[in-house]
Amino acid sequence: MTTIVFATQNPHKVREIQEMLPAHFKIKSLAEIGCTEDIPETQPTIEGNAIQKAQYIHDHYGVNCFAEDTGLEVTALNGAPGVFTARYAGPQRDANDNMNLLLKNLKDKSDRSARFKTVIALILDGDIYTFEGIVEGQIAQKRSGSGGFGYDPIFLPEGQSQSFAEMDKAAKNAISHRGRAMAKLLDYFAAME
Ligand code: IMP
Repeated sequence: MTTIVFATQNPHKVREIQEMLPAHFKIKSLAEIGCTEDIPETQPTIEGNAIQKAQYIHDHYGVNCFAEDTGLEVTALNGAPGVFTARYAGPQRDANDNMNLLLKNLKDKSDRSARFKTVIALILDGDIYTFEGIVEGQIAQKRSGSGGFGYDPIFLPEGQSQSFAEMDKAAKNAISHRGRAMAKLLDYFAAME
């Protein structure tokens, strides 16, 4: 049995990846190792934050683990909101406020290209590995769709006619930043067998 801790407070994410793995992989949540504190996320890059979170769990709990971090990078805004994606419009971390601010800041911009980036940092026996998933796209002029979360209603993935919020979950996961990074992690786990 290989046991790995997923450094997330979100039980849905833990279950989702557990279901994709063979039975001899056990993914543990932070709750299962008794970690309830806020994990620091203070680095200037998405990769840095993913590593910082995984390193924190490894250092404090002495376990093999992985952590993920995601950001939206908008070309015309020089890569913003980047590491501030969740709290772009303020500490309330409100998706509507974030979208409103982004649409306002892009009002006069002709280049609306953007990308979501997820980095997963895995620490196995003290060694660090990173897996990156990127989806390129455009920021729409207005919202469409009611599915998903965060910036989904205004993100138009490249090559698709719908926003992320109009796609069903499986279709989004097949091309999303997080889906792509997770697929690389799963390939890595599969090769460990
Ligand atoms: P996290 O690192 O997964 O917490 O993601 C940071 C922030 O990025 C979230 O709070 C959302 O605002 C945004 N975000 C991450 N993934 C997605 C997505 O798939 N669609 C829309 N927004 C997302």
